[in-house]
Amino acid sequence: MRILVVEDEYKIANSVKKGLEQEGYAVDVVYDGNEGYDMASAEEYDVIILDLMLPGLDGVTLCKKLREDRNHTPILMLTAKGQTSDKVDGLNAGADDYLVKPFAFEELLARIRALTRRPVNGGQTILKVGDLELDTTAYEVKRVGKSVNLTRREFALLEYLMRNPGKIMTKDQIIAHVWDYDADVLPNTVEVYVGYLRRKIDNVFPKEKPIIHTVRGFGYKLGQNSNVKS
Ligand code: CA
Repeated sequence: MRILVVEDEYKIANSVKKGLEQEGYAVDVVYDGNEGYDMASAEEYDVIILDLMLPGLDGVTLCKKLREDRNHTPILMLTAKGQTSDKVDGLNAGADDYLVKPFAFEELLARIRALTRRPVNGGQTILKVGDLELDTTAYEVKRVGKSVNLTRREFALLEYLMRNPGKIMTKDQIIAHVWDYDADVLPNTVEVYVGYLRRKIDNVFPKEKPIIHTVRGFGYKLGQNSNVKS
């Protein structure tokens, strides 16, 4: 999951980035509305956290512009206390939800979770591919009922692949959704992490059909059908 934070208060922006990264999200921060618009247009995000009052473009205008561009990335608008009419403007402009500052980090996390799972599978927090299960809120992974221990990054990678079962995901797509903009990740790093996942998910279960498949020259695909080549 990759998140863009557009917020001109450094303290809030940086603590949100730090907290979300600890939760395994890839996070990019910009402090200006115009930059926010450029980043949101150029990169693929899973959620945008957008402050209302910003230098350059304000949050409502930015939100409207993205929706006019047919960019449907879920937007969580941040408003200051007492700006109730602004929050209505934000929702009218196409934001999906709003949060009043100051907010508790747990509250922010809950809203992000709600926004990212909403369009994927109607409120389900457990993703399933074959006999593999991943719980996006409890951070648990199980294969044939047995727990699999993953690091944050491995979990984020597996979650992204499990949200796109049966589709070939390229290394560039994986990097864009699992690592942040500043991370400077090489395609080789993706191979390394897929290798870690494969060890924990396929090699440990030799009796089961492999789930992680390399599609040479293209990327990776998750699935347990017999017609998927490994
Ligand atoms: Ca502000």
